[in-house]
Amino acid sequence: MSKKKNIKKLRTQLKKGHQGRRRSGDFTREYNEHGFEDKPTLHQERLNGKGELTRHRTVFGANSSDAHDAIDIHLEIKAEECIQGRVLSVHGLDCMVSASDGNRYHCAVRGLLKNIRTTQRNVVVAGDIVSLKPELSTDAGSRNEGLIVRVEPRYGCISRTSKGQQHVLVANVDQLIIVASVAEPALKPNLIDRFLVTAEQVGCEPVICFNKTDLIDLISLQAIAGTYGQLGYRVIFTSAEKGTGIEQFRSLIRSKQNVVVGQSGVGKSSLLNAANPTLKLRTNSVSMDNQKGRHTTTAATLIELGNDGYIVDTPGIRQFQLWDVVPEEVAGLFRDLRPYINECRFPDCSHVHEQPCGVKRAVADGLLDLRRYESYCQIRHEI
Ligand code: GDP
Ligand code: ZN
Repeated sequence: MSKKKNIKKLRTQLKKGHQGRRRSGDFTREYNEHGFEDKPTLHQERLNGKGELTRHRTVFGANSSDAHDAIDIHLEIKAEECIQGRVLSVHGLDCMVSASDGNRYHCAVRGLLKNIRTTQRNVVVAGDIVSLKPELSTDAGSRNEGLIVRVEPRYGCISRTSKGQQHVLVANVDQLIIVASVAEPALKPNLIDRFLVTAEQVGCEPVICFNKTDLIDLISLQAIAGTYGQLGYRVIFTSAEKGTGIEQFRSLIRSKQNVVVGQSGVGKSSLLNAANPTLKLRTNSVSMDNQKGRHTTTAATLIELGNDGYIVDTPGIRQFQLWDVVPEEVAGLFRDLRPYINECRFPDCSHVHEQPCGVKRAVADGLLDLRRYESYCQIRHEI
């Protein structure tokens, strides 16, 4: 894969405290003592001319202007020494990477990468696509180790902002699988709408999965499923119990990085187990869903599905809705409301009580589904 066309020279600011000193030592011990951000870094790069005084460094990379502030550093790396991989989890300084050579590597992050000034808290997160340089192990038969030298620009970031810093929980999410049970627990269309807003905001493809279809007559789903289908959302019907729709579910998650969401008890784990029996996820486990409502920062972990697919597992993400959405954004994230927003009189129209309002007129004219509009009002109210 050629990265050449994206690469340009750019000057980047290094964080304060970067002294360019050569320092050897144990990463984990240093992390425990000094934390991630402020410690002098272990690195072997040449400082270009100005020695220890330099505060800027010329690096090669795409200065991505996208919202996620991609970090794409390409610094005197010999491509033939590196392999690509996907970060499965990050624990302190230890990143577990599943590499294209079929091996897993415990990786540290190259010193310079950590010093790039960034609004993001984590330079490397679960889901990142990285280049790593395998390191020769000192003792034979030990685990594979490597150094992450490059992080590809991100898309599909699920993140949370705290204290002005974007905290990416997981990057490169392709698909949000929204699991809703049609009974036991009862269908909650408003919850589906919330997750759709999230998918639109994150910029990943949503799939609406109506599960437990063995418990009802499918005819009763026609109206609601039809509404979503008309909006261009992919809708599937499954029964993890009876095995219905599992083949379709399996092919949907193949070769993609998926996040599965939905309230407790709708059958997320059952569906995943049915699609991939090697997963052996616990079902009916209320304890896993106790995180609801709490702003848990449980680190995300990717579960490999084989065939290049992944499921993102974290109790926090599974339950969390509406990451970082502000009220003014919501209407634009409703596909069906979006076309009518221009017709409102006030540019900051909330589409709830103003007159004249393009959205409300569309509802009155029967152009907009009333239930979806009510769902919008409720979500906006709750944010
Ligand atoms: P999760 O909390 O979303 O992961 O849900 P689980 O997979 O733990 O399932 C919750 C309960 O619903 C379990 O008792 C499952 O056996 C049951 N269940 C899951 N899928 C189906 C289904 O398609 N039909 C029926 N009748 N029950 C299901
Ligand atoms: Zn309006």
